Amino acid sequence: MTAIAYDALARAHDHDESPTYSLRPTRAEAESAVRTLIRWAGDDPAREGLIDTPKRVVKAYEEWFSGYDADPEAALARTFEEVEGYDDIVLLKGIRRESTCEHHMAPIIGVAHVAYVPTDRVVGLSKLARLVEIYGKRLQVQEKLTAQIAATLETALQPKGVAVMISAEHHCMSTRGVHHPGVDTVTTRFTGVFREARMEERFLRLARG
Ligand SMILES: [Zn+2]
Repeated sequence: MTAIAYDALARAHDHDESPTYSLRPTRAEAESAVRTLIRWAGDDPAREGLIDTPKRVVKAYEEWFSGYDADPEAALARTFEEVEGYDDIVLLKGIRRESTCEHHMAPIIGVAHVAYVPTDRVVGLSKLARLVEIYGKRLQVQEKLTAQIAATLETALQPKGVAVMISAEHHCMSTRGVHHPGVDTVTTRFTGVFREARMEERFLRLARG
């Protein structure tokens, strides 16, 4: 891109408050893009078996990427204070985690374990799973997903600490490239009291046990 073209683009962005990702194409444009990829794969999008595929793929995208239309902080907005002074680990373990890698748009499938130690407020347990789902159903890298879940819990609950561990198979690694099936990527994020070795060990034992 020439400098002049780049300047023009930069100016266009200055005048446009909305980020570029909000410029969603129409459904017809999205379906047309799928037909292009079918042709790129080497097949004929007009043959019987593929004729409705673009429609199905675009519909599937609405589910796989539903996290863009959801607000993670709103999901944690409702908190409860009546916990009789409970002040130990709250752990939701083995949350099924489905995401899509942002480098290859291939599935990332695994589990997440999310824990926190409340200060005075707790959140419904299903909301922890919902948080994983909202961030998961976006284009992701696992490190970012792990950090986002922890940061949102920190902000919403201001707990004594948060621990997040994600273990997942990246299909871009198992079905292409280096072809390493059965290899899991593990990421963790510990804040507050979970940075103490004793608490970190308790979390890991509970999550794995
Ligand atoms: Zn990838």
